[in-house]
Amino acid sequence: MKKIQMVDLKGQYEKIKDEVDSGIRQVIESTSFINGPVVHEFQKDLENYLQVKHVIPCANGTDALQIAMMGLGLKPGDEVITADFTFAATVEVIALLQLTPVLVDVDPVTFNIDTEAIKKAITPKTKAIVPVHLFGQAANMDEIMQLAEAHNLFVIEDNAQAIGADYIFKDGSVKKTGAIGHVGATSFFPSKNLGCYGDGGAIFTNDDELAHTLRGIVNHGMYRRYYHDVVGVNSRLDSIQAVVLKAKLPHLDAYNKARRQAAQKYTNAFTGNDKIITPNYCTACDAQRYDACNTHVFHQYTLRLKGVDRDGLVNFLNEKGIPCGVYYPVPLHQQKAYQDSRYREADFKVTNQLVNEVISLPMHTELDDEQIEFIANTLLKFINQ
Ligand SMILES: *Cc1c(COP(=O)(O)O)cnc(C)c1O
Repeated sequence: MKKIQMVDLKGQYEKIKDEVDSGIRQVIESTSFINGPVVHEFQKDLENYLQVKHVIPCANGTDALQIAMMGLGLKPGDEVITADFTFAATVEVIALLQLTPVLVDVDPVTFNIDTEAIKKAITPKTKAIVPVHLFGQAANMDEIMQLAEAHNLFVIEDNAQAIGADYIFKDGSVKKTGAIGHVGATSFFPSKNLGCYGDGGAIFTNDDELAHTLRGIVNHGMYRRYYHDVVGVNSRLDSIQAVVLKAKLPHLDAYNKARRQAAQKYTNAFTGNDKIITPNYCTACDAQRYDACNTHVFHQYTLRLKGVDRDGLVNFLNEKGIPCGVYYPVPLHQQKAYQDSRYREADFKVTNQLVNEVISLPMHTELDDEQIEFIANTLLKFINQ
C-alpha cells in the first residue's frame, strides 16, 4: 500500500508535470515574475469557470478577505458577523481592520454558520456577514442573502475551502460558491482544493465599481502609477503560482469528484455505526444524502464521534501510519486573541460540542480503495473495541 498522507500533492503533480514544468521554465526565461501574462490568463479562466465578472488575484486567502473588507469601506467599530467554528484567518482580518468581530454558533449538521444565530446577532452597527463554506460545503446562502438584503448588509463569502462547489438555490438556480455574495475570497494555499506551490489567493465580485476599487487596493492604492488615491497593500499572485493554477483549473471538477467519491466510500464504511456521524448532508436540497445533489467538495472529510476517546483514536491512527486532523480544537470565541466579554457560553452550544467530537480523515485526489479501506477498518477497530 502507498504511504497514506493527509494531502498528496506529489501524486497530483505527476499528472500535470509537463505543463507545470514548461510553464515555470517559460516564466523564468521571460523574467516576468510579477504580473506576467499568465496571471491575467488564469484570472480570465477563473472568471469563466466561476461565472463571475471579476477575479482579482492576490497573495493569499487572508489578504483576500482583508482586501475585500477594505474595498467595501468598512470602518472601525462596524460589526461583522462570522462563524465561531472556522480557521482563525476569517476573524483575524476583521480584528486587524479594527472592525468588531461578532462570532456566532454553527449548525450541528453542516458545521456552517447558523442563520438563526445571525438573526439574533444583528444590531444597528452590523455591516457585514462572512459565511465560511466550511470543509467544502456551502453555507445556507438563500437565507443569508435574504437577511443581508433585509438589513442592508454586505455578504463576504470565505470560499477558501469550497472552490468549485455549487450552491443550488431554493428556486433551482445554481451558482458557484464565492460568486454569490457581494464579494468572495479564496485561498490557493497548496492543500486547498485548488492549490498552488506557495501562497496565493483571489477576490471575486460581480460589481464593476468594487472590482476597480479592489484592483487599486491590492497595488498600494494606485489607480494611476505613483498616484495613491486610497491606502492599499501589496498583495500579488506571482507568475509561477499562476502557471500551476492555470494548469490545475481544468482538472478542478475532476479533483472535486475524486474527493466526493472517496467521501462516499468512507461514508459507506461508517454507515450504521451509532458512534459515528458522517457528513452526509446536502444543504441545497435538504436531502440527507450529499450524493443526491453533489455539491459538497470535501476539502475535509470530517466525522463527529459519539462517546469515543477522540484523542486516543488520533494516537491509534497515527501509530498505524494514518495521519488525521482535528479542525478545529478550540472555538474562536475562546481563543485568547478573540475573547469578548459580551460572549456567553450558552450561545455557543454547538461549537463547544464540535471541538470535542470532530476528526478529519485523509482527504485528497489520490486516495485509492486500498488506503480508504485500511483507514476505515483501522478506525472501526478502535471504535468497536
Ligand atoms: C486557508 C483559509 C484561509 C486563509 O488562507 P491563506 O491563503 O492561508 O491565507 C481563510 N479562511 C479559511 C476558512 C481557510 O481555510
